[in-house]
Order: sequence, then structure tokens, then C-alpha cells
Amino acid sequence: MGEKIIGIDLGTTNSVVSVVVGGEPVVIQNQEGNRITPSVVSWTKEKEILVGEPAKRRAILDPQNTVYESKRFIGRKYEEVKDIANKVSYKVVPDEKGDAAFDIPNAGKLVRPEEVGAHILRKLKEAAEQYLGEEVKKAVITVPAYFNERQRQATKMAGKLAGLEVVRVLNEPTAAALAYGLDKKKEAKILVYDFGGGTFDVSILEGGDGVIEVKATAGDAFLGGANIDERIMEWLIEEFKKETGIDLRQDRTALQRLKEAAEQAKKELSFKMETEISLPFITIDPETKQPLHLQKKLTRARLEQMIEDIVDRTIEIVKRALADAKLKPEDIDDIVLVGGSTRIPLVQKKIKEFFGKEPHKGVNPDEVVAVGAAIQGSILSGEKKDVLLIDVTPLSLGIETMGGAMTVLIPRNTPIPVRKCETFTTVRDYQTEVEIKVYQGESPIAKENKFLGSFILSGIPPAPRGVPQIEVCFDIDADGILHVTAKDKATGKSQSITIQPSSGLTEEEVQKMLEEYEKHKEEYERKKKLVELKNQLDQLVYPIEKLLREAADKFTPEEQKELQQLVAESRKVIDEATEPEEVEKQIQKVQQIASKYSEKLYKLAQEEKKDNEDKKDNKGDDAIDAKPVD
Ligand code: AMP
Repeated sequence: MGEKIIGIDLGTTNSVVSVVVGGEPVVIQNQEGNRITPSVVSWTKEKEILVGEPAKRRAILDPQNTVYESKRFIGRKYEEVKDIANKVSYKVVPDEKGDAAFDIPNAGKLVRPEEVGAHILRKLKEAAEQYLGEEVKKAVITVPAYFNERQRQATKMAGKLAGLEVVRVLNEPTAAALAYGLDKKKEAKILVYDFGGGTFDVSILEGGDGVIEVKATAGDAFLGGANIDERIMEWLIEEFKKETGIDLRQDRTALQRLKEAAEQAKKELSFKMETEISLPFITIDPETKQPLHLQKKLTRARLEQMIEDIVDRTIEIVKRALADAKLKPEDIDDIVLVGGSTRIPLVQKKIKEFFGKEPHKGVNPDEVVAVGAAIQGSILSGEKKDVLLIDVTPLSLGIETMGGAMTVLIPRNTPIPVRKCETFTTVRDYQTEVEIKVYQGESPIAKENKFLGSFILSGIPPAPRGVPQIEVCFDIDADGILHVTAKDKATGKSQSITIQPSSGLTEEEVQKMLEEYEKHKEEYERKKKLVELKNQLDQLVYPIEKLLREAADKFTPEEQKELQQLVAESRKVIDEATEPEEVEKQIQKVQQIASKYSEKLYKLAQEEKKDNEDKKDNKGDDAIDAKPVD
């Protein structure tokens, strides 16, 4: 048996550490005797660094020197998180490399998100050492499934700074599935509903006989318990304003106290029907100079009214994940709850209504991810037999083909590692080069997706269009790195490119694109149809053009004129048409006129088609747009 590997859920709001002892996962208490440690770090004037509960308490007194939700900034460029930066009480700035960092007056220097993470991890590591009575050197740390390579690397760095070797960066939903015991089931599908302090994530996993596979993921990076706290705060502020005319929004300290009271009230309403919010001396009346107090009663029913739309939003995201996994609610065997916000009775009620059954209550929602990480740790240390873990691609990956179309090689939510190949051909006669442009996204128009990179495969032996066979392969390895290769089957010549996941989209961009896609689904379908019809028209016109070029003598001058006009008109439609109907009309026209010359045209078209079929095995119609040959 190897040395102990602890499991850490380094959460946005709270963190938890666990370890498997004697085959059973144990959640370790921290130095204050709590199983949950707030992910908060605070710097005092004396340069003392406080972590966890004591730091969270200081957030009210010293908001500029207290960092919370630092996970939102880890591995991120300042530019990417500018908007979130304005929402926190401490100062977020770009460091010399443009990465997000914190300007903490009491620290006397820029503090990086990795350092904040390291302080939290070190506290948890020490708690584990105290519990185990031995030094701990290795850990499994969990991250959201959406984290990109940079965010994962930065999380590893945080571990290193804390003196921990991070042996695995594990996705949170996979950890939850391990804690649930999905790997030990015969065959089951579960949905992990993770509603934490700042984020909402849903994942559908399938498992059985030692394998766990992520089928689909969806989420909202800015939907969590904090949104609920804000609703309560807003309500308190408005009520107070009605009574006193004073707007507490201007008072930072009052805001912090309101935030804490709001969260407290919310938690109490998870097991009580009514609660009293009491904030004495919340502010001073500017006229009478007398202290003012805030005292309010909040019922569970009132809270549920305030937050129903938030909970409904989570169900909408659940529906999206189910649609992606091509599953119906009744296909899900169990719903595993993760995150403190799943304790809210309305959340459980809505889940029950939607799925028609109670969510699984086996594992504590605050601890389930850390427990899963500990189980993964025990697997890696050799204590437990290995379980295969598979992740998915959040967005489709493909290349640009004829007419600017996005041809998908790996659809979104495909489990990785994965390898997919397809054979393409050229658009123009005697084209000796093709440019492979790689995109990520759901639009049928390549340019509307995120461009990831491109390369040119040259040296293709000159041949009529449709003849060369270019095999394009997409390979995503277990680390999420994408390798794209194009090979000319005739010569064996190949070219390739490697794309790091970090050059892809950020979590929010993925989210935004998926939302865009949902919103404009019909429009996308229309665009796709437009490209397809244009390609169809091109296929029809091309042999006519070729005939006119190579065998004009087979036609009378009038015939030539008619056909030339038809070609010119069709080319204009291909270039300019914006509506599928326009193209459809032109296709009909071409078919009608062409039927007059059917014998001549079809003979040629037939020859060409046969030629292509002989040489291609699949996807014969997808042609890669040429890079103009110099
Ligand atoms: P997590 O990120 O999983 O640690 O979840 C933290 C969030 O859960 C915070 O917004 C907490 O306020 C919230 N939370 C914790 N306990 C409860 C509870 N009993 N009822 C409602 N929300 C809770």
C-alpha cells in the first residue's frame, strides 16, 4: 500500500478535506472543529494571514483585505474576469502577465489566486496530518468539469505552493459519482445536481462495472446560493429604505452585515418556517445622529416567492443536459445532490416534481465531492482497484468545408479520449493545397464559431475536383489536448496541428455559445440549409460550366448563351442569396433547363460521380475550401 493521498474539494465558497481510512472515506475536521472550511483568506494589519472561519468573520470589518470566491479568478486573464472583479469587495488587478491578481493593502504585494488557494489547501493539509498523525504529501483536488487547462494548471500550482503534489485534478461531478458508488453499480445513470454558493452545474453520468462515463454537462457559472442571499439583501434594503429613507447600498460595512444575515436567514429557513433577521446599529440617522436598527421577519413562503425563478433556472439547465444526453427524466436512476444550496426545501421540491422521485439522500451534499476525491486518492495509492474516468467535450469540434460550412468531427458531449476520422476532397480542379481550419462551436457556419487554429496541406497531386482524398483526423487525448491531422491518401503526405484546451473557450464563453445556440436554433438550421442548398446548386452548375469550357462545340450558339446565363445567374445566387428559398428556386430552374440537355450533361456528371465513388469511401460531398494556389 502506498502513502495516503487525501481528497480536497477546493470550492468557490467552502472547501472540504477527506481521506479513506480502512476502506472508508472520512471527512476531516479542521482546526476549529468544523468539517467545512470557508474558502476565505484575510490579511491583518500585522501581516498575519487568517484562513477559513476566522477570515470569513473579518470580511465584514475589513472587506478590502479579505479574499473570498478566489476560485473565480484562478488561471484567468484579468480581461476575462473584469466584470466579476467589480462585484467583489477586494481589488482585482492584472499582474505583469495580464493574469488576474489581488491588490491587498495589508499583504503589501500583489497576491495571486494560486496563493490564496495554497493558503486554504495548506490549512486542510495540516488538518489531515493532525488527524492521520503522519505527513501528507499527495492530494487529489477537484475542479468544475468546465475548467480549462490553464485553470487546472493553476489549481495544481496552488497545491504545489501548499507543499502538495496534486496527483490528479478530478472533475467535481465525477467525484460525486464515485462517492455515490456509481462505479460499483451494475449499470446506472445518475444526474449530479450541484448547486453551490456561486455556481450551478449539472452532469449526467453513466456507470457500471468499474467504469464511470460523463454523458453530458451543463451549468451556469453565476448561479448559486449567493444569488439567493442577494435577493434577501435587496428585500431588506428596500424594506429599510421604505421605513427610514436611508439607502444601505452606500455603506460597505452595512452591506457585509446584511449579506451575512441574509445567508443565515436563508439557511434557517431550510428547516424553519419563519426567521427573525436582527441587525442592531446597522447605520446612523444622518439627521438625528441616532443609531438605527434593522429588524425583519421572513417566512419560508416569502423566501420561496423571492427565489422561485432562480430554482426554475436550474431545472431549465437540467433539461438542457438531459436533451444533450438524449435522455428523458425517467431514464435517470438517481439524482445526486451536491452543494449547500440543495438543502433548500424548494430546490428538493422542484427536483422531485421534475423527476417524479425523491433525490438520493445517501451522501452529505457539502461533503460528497471531497469524499469522491478521497476515494480517487485511495484508488491512485493502490488501496482501491482503478476506475476508468471519462470526460466529455463541452462543444462540437470540426473544420470549415465548402461554402463556409462547419463540418463537425466530434460532436459536443462526446466522451474523451476520442479519435474520429473523415475523408474530404477538394472544391476546385487541380487544387494542390487545402487549408484545414479548426473551429469549436454549435453554429453550422464555421466563421461564427471559435477559431482554434489552421494549417495547410500542400503537395496534393493535381486532379479534378472531388478526386483527391484527404483524411482528416481529430484526436483528443485524456488531458483534453486536441491533435488534428490531415493526410493525402494518394501520397501519404500529412500535416498536423496540436491545440491546447486553454486556447479554446472559457467556461463562460462555452455557456454563452450554448445559450446562443439554444436561442437561435431555428436560425442556425436555416443557415445550415442555406449552405447545403448552395453546395447542391454548385454541384449542379459545375458540370455545366465544365462542359461549356471543355466541350462548347457540342452546343449551338443559342444553347451556349442560355447555359452561360444560367451559370452566371447561379453563381450570383451562390454568392449572394441569403434565403434558402431563393436557392431552392434556382436549383429547380437549373434542373429544368438542364433536363433539356440531359443526355450530354448526365453523361459527364455520371463519369465524374463514378470517378469520385471509386476513389472515396465516405463523405464524398464534403469538400475543403481551397487556399488559392499561387
Ligand atoms: P457550497 O459551495 O457547496 O459549499 O455551498 C455553499 C452554499 O450553500 C452557500 O450559498 C450557503 O449559504 C448554502 N447553504 C449551506 N447550507 C444551507 C442550508 N441549510 N440551506 C440553504 N442554503 C445553504
